[in-house]
Amino acid sequence: MTYPGATRPSVDGVSLMVNAGELTVLLGPSGCGKSTLVRTVNRLVEPTAGTVLVDGTDVRTTDPIALRRGIGYVIQAIGLFGHMTIAQNIGIVPELVGWERTRIDARTDELLERVRLDPSRYRNRYPRELSGGEQQRVGVARALAVEPRVLLMDEPFGALDPVVRRSLQEEIRAIQRDLGTTIVFVTHDVDEALRLADRIVVMQAGRIVQAERPEQMLAHPATPYVAELLGTDDVGRRLALLRVRDLMSAPDAAAGPAELDAEATLRIALGTLLTSPGRVVVREGTRIVGAIDLAAVRAALAG
Ligand code: ADP
Repeated sequence: MTYPGATRPSVDGVSLMVNAGELTVLLGPSGCGKSTLVRTVNRLVEPTAGTVLVDGTDVRTTDPIALRRGIGYVIQAIGLFGHMTIAQNIGIVPELVGWERTRIDARTDELLERVRLDPSRYRNRYPRELSGGEQQRVGVARALAVEPRVLLMDEPFGALDPVVRRSLQEEIRAIQRDLGTTIVFVTHDVDEALRLADRIVVMQAGRIVQAERPEQMLAHPATPYVAELLGTDDVGRRLALLRVRDLMSAPDAAAGPAELDAEATLRIALGTLLTSPGRVVVREGTRIVGAIDLAAVRAALAG
């Protein structure tokens, strides 16, 4: 994708398959092309080359307005309409697509509850009567109004303080789990990416450097750039995110008697490993799937 007058493409040679029902995070420093890439999905940006498919359909074959009704979009500048109540803001798209009044009202209340705003208190207020965090909750509710299968979120929580931001991250994770929405989430914040992502896509100067599950990426950064971006040398981060499964070796008859779950984080595993000389059995349910020892953890933490 090359913007008019630009000397080089802002997004270049990108091939990315986003899995349905997953939360994919586009991560990278400002200007690396994240917004440009995400906006090609709802045709706010028309690529100068290449194709974007949603559910197998080339987005160019769908009218942009109709396309955007079916794809939720949340950005940092929330863009609620100030002269409309919260309920009216959430009801915009349902109304456009011709839902009955009763259905819109029921859906509005359901969504307000979903984002933890009491409908009876909030539905008739105006955006200026809400805090930034509350407004962004309404932004999320509005984007979900007609149950989009795809939700694009471009630095949606960038302007919020850390506590509010954290709580909205948890909300989004819960919504995504419950509704199975496919979410593409743009951020330059590594901690946000690690907290939210099923898969992280690291971008650098318009290209994709690595696309991987967070723990895998943390354990095996493809390039020094990815390692630095993720702060893979941050021991606390590695302890919290790396799992026994990522570091275990093949089952070992000499291992035991101590046991660990394959899904345990290193932070949890460390207690067992520090007090168990030798190798520890790794289980997945009742199955023995591997073995691990302190040396493996030490090597992983050393990077
Ligand atoms: P990010 O979202 O990672 O911060 P962007 O996709 O916004 O990156 O920008 C990628 C590059 O494209 C930057 O060099 C930026 O200046 C350029 N760019 C973004 N939007 C436009 C535009 N509308 N016109 C011209 N250049 C743009």
